Amino acid sequence: MGKEDGFKTQKRVSTSASSGVLPTTIATPGGRKPPRGNKQIKKTFSNAKMTILCGLVTILVLRGTIGVNFGKSDADAVNQNLVEETNRLLAEIRSDSDPTDPNDPPDSDLDLNATYTLGPKITNWDQQRATWLAQNQDFPSSVAGKPRVLLLTGSPPKPCDNPIGDHYLLKSVKNKIDYCRIHGIEIVYNMAHLDKELAGYWAKLPMLRRLMLSHPEIEWIWWMDSDALFTDMVFEIPLSKYEDHNMVIHGYPDLLYDQKSWIALNTGSFLFRNCQWSLDLLDAWAPMGPKGPIREEAGKVLTAYLKGRPAFEADDQSALIYLLLSEKDKWMGKVFVENQYYLHGFWEGLVDRYEEMMDKYHPGLGDERWPFVTHFVGCKPCGSYADYAVERCLKSMERAYNFADNQVLKLYGFGHRGLLSPKIKRIRNETTSPLKFVNRFDIRRTAPLKIEARS
Ligand code: UDP
Ligand code: MN
Repeated sequence: MGKEDGFKTQKRVSTSASSGVLPTTIATPGGRKPPRGNKQIKKTFSNAKMTILCGLVTILVLRGTIGVNFGKSDADAVNQNLVEETNRLLAEIRSDSDPTDPNDPPDSDLDLNATYTLGPKITNWDQQRATWLAQNQDFPSSVAGKPRVLLLTGSPPKPCDNPIGDHYLLKSVKNKIDYCRIHGIEIVYNMAHLDKELAGYWAKLPMLRRLMLSHPEIEWIWWMDSDALFTDMVFEIPLSKYEDHNMVIHGYPDLLYDQKSWIALNTGSFLFRNCQWSLDLLDAWAPMGPKGPIREEAGKVLTAYLKGRPAFEADDQSALIYLLLSEKDKWMGKVFVENQYYLHGFWEGLVDRYEEMMDKYHPGLGDERWPFVTHFVGCKPCGSYADYAVERCLKSMERAYNFADNQVLKLYGFGHRGLLSPKIKRIRNETTSPLKFVNRFDIRRTAPLKIEARS
């Protein structure tokens, strides 16, 4: 906005100069050599005075009316002010201290000898929930034969280290709103650290528990990272497949059981059934999470136990794999390790193949032919330290976003000019009978294969 203003100001200067506003005031009369006599000198002086005066008036008028400035422009000064003010605010929001809060508790009041818990131990949730559902039939746990699903995602409470990170958080939540709207899924965006011990990637745990307890009508809660995008807007999770399971997570059994690999499962996108089993799993998962010495020490245990894990503090993914492996009999009977489609798809092998996918396949497949989710693991678009080059990550995220957005825009008759372009183009002509396009392109009521058959 500021830059654009500056550009317009410059443009206006050149337009008025060429249209003759300035030349009338500074042109010398007739271009002739001035006479040298006394009277003549006086006349020359008064002429010069007039010229200077006129020049000054012209400058003042131009400054006042159209903002022409010499040297640093007003627009620049306003810009500079905005930048300084924004930086001051960002620094204030990023700094941990809130001088206005006298009740701020101390940083950590954890007893290192006690096992950390997410809250009071609940033991009869299935029964409590069943009673509530029976008493609140206007909040059924399934609608039109489909279990109620709530998608939870979120990001840190503070602005990203790099401002472009906030732009991609916005694109990412836009992408999720689109998917959820199309498929009748509720969505929650969380930016709060409900438990200050569980900041960062651990923040999902207390929020998952909170949502289960506050929304007994929800059957499945689905966590999705902010750096994961839906790239198949048609595909739906085959929930009936998981009737006998309480957790669905993308992964590979051989990497899990044979290799104890730290990437055997991915916690960027997974589902929990709202039940006692899930509350118990969250309770068993959380104790490695509290920041500081507990998380640091747990990190050493995880690195020693899991294949390929670098040395760093305990993360939620490693802790889950560790828990499921070390208490396999207790948990694995109810965990569905899914790899028939990309509930999580690692971005590196996918983002360069979108053109090929568009050539050969169609949305609705969800697997390597048209990945359901593309997850930018290690890209840290909101942080400052990533495992990959920033430019490559941002470019790939832009491609994934536009690849998905094309599927949404299709209903409206538009598409992106290219996978790297924010600009769109019309892909079909307006018509006087628009409803035929609704029937043909609306993802909400058209099964994937029907779309294929009709197009
Ligand atoms: N997250 C959050 N609050 C925080 C920090 C992270 O909700 O304060 C979420 C965010 O959605 C993020 C996820 O935790 O995507 C996991 O972190 P990240 O994606 O950076 O880890 P990676 O997938 O690269 O291992
Ligand atoms: Mn992630």
